[in-house]
Amino acid sequence: MDDCIFCRIVKEELPCTRVYEDDLALAFMDIAPVVRGHVLVIPREHYDPLYAVPERLLQHLIGVVSRVARGQMTGLQANGVNIMQANGAVAGQVVPHVHFHVIPRFHDDGHSWNWRAGKYDNPDEAHGLARKIHEAIVFTQNTSS
Ligand code: AMP
Ligand code: ZN
Repeated sequence: MDDCIFCRIVKEELPCTRVYEDDLALAFMDIAPVVRGHVLVIPREHYDPLYAVPERLLQHLIGVVSRVARGQMTGLQANGVNIMQANGAVAGQVVPHVHFHVIPRFHDDGHSWNWRAGKYDNPDEAHGLARKIHEAIVFTQNTSS
């Protein structure tokens, strides 16, 4: 992916401030932090979206995410950590190379998520949506094996 900025960071064509790296993953500082200390964790190989990533690699990536979060807690004395991951422009994704945002949180960081808690019209609505998601998962499992 020649025009992917995160692939270019992996290839060291673009600079980044590295936090951690191994054979499969790279963690580096987000250039525009939501909160100071905001880190991105990416696979070295180009994948997008999340559900295109092989599960073994995903397991590795979430392990790196966890280690970075622990590093923010102990190294930065963070009070908490948010993990965020976007798929698709409608979800706020700007860079189409899978990445996890690992965002340290501090009591006085001044940040708050614009999280609106909605509700279903009735229990049947939630049950119907749950059934559609479940059936799609089972269908995908059956067709990919
Ligand atoms: P997303 O909106 O989930 O696609 O997030 C993309 C993130 O990449 C944003 O938080 C950007 O600030 C960050 N970003 C974009 N370019 C760079 C770069 N060259 N180095 C570090 N972070 C970057
Ligand atoms: Zn890429």
